[in-house]
Amino acid sequence: MADNGKKRLVVATGNAHKLKEIAEIFPDYEIVSQKQMGFDEDVEETGTTFAENALIKARSACKALNLPVLADDSGICVDALGGQPGIFSARYGGVHGDDKKNRALLLQNMCCEKNRKAHFTCAVALVYPDGREIVVEGKTHGEILLEEHGTGGFGYDPIFFSTDLQKSFGVATAEEKNAVSHRFRALQALLAKLNSI
Ligand code: IMP
Repeated sequence: MADNGKKRLVVATGNAHKLKEIAEIFPDYEIVSQKQMGFDEDVEETGTTFAENALIKARSACKALNLPVLADDSGICVDALGGQPGIFSARYGGVHGDDKKNRALLLQNMCCEKNRKAHFTCAVALVYPDGREIVVEGKTHGEILLEEHGTGGFGYDPIFFSTDLQKSFGVATAEEKNAVSHRFRALQALLAKLNSI
């Protein structure tokens, strides 16, 4: 329990955008990063699925801090590429976190493809020191555009045409994207699970 009477939830990320989004969806919790709690290790994501990687991150911080820890793992899956880049989304172009290179390679690999269907997936894992583990997933569907449209968001947003919004995530406002995003849907699913137990 935090000083303000709220339950504390540690999140295994240093990404301020993710921490803010999680805090908005979990107003009854005090959301803190693992770094704020004194754990600042980048664990190797050796899983073969989004869920496995989220669990690896949550388990490692939970073990070190002896507190409940939430972690997520996400990426974009393209039907015509057999689900790639998938868990390799962040380093698809060869350099981890180089969004521009990642988008350029995806556009190149999709240049002659008619089937442009794709979805973002986010797995969220919540791991407790007593060994309980909850894992949920959220998805958001769309298509890979022929070229970049808009400069908003991050990662693959400028080349993703959202079915829900009927526009590119690159031109959507943060509020519009957050209302339909894979991360929002995974966190909503987690909240529903927590409220039912
Ligand atoms: P991570 O889960 O933060 O490691 O994200 C993995 C990678 O997936 C990111 O580096 C992005 O390339 C991509 N990605 C995940 N979520 C999004 C999103 O909402 N928009 C655009 N790209 C995303």
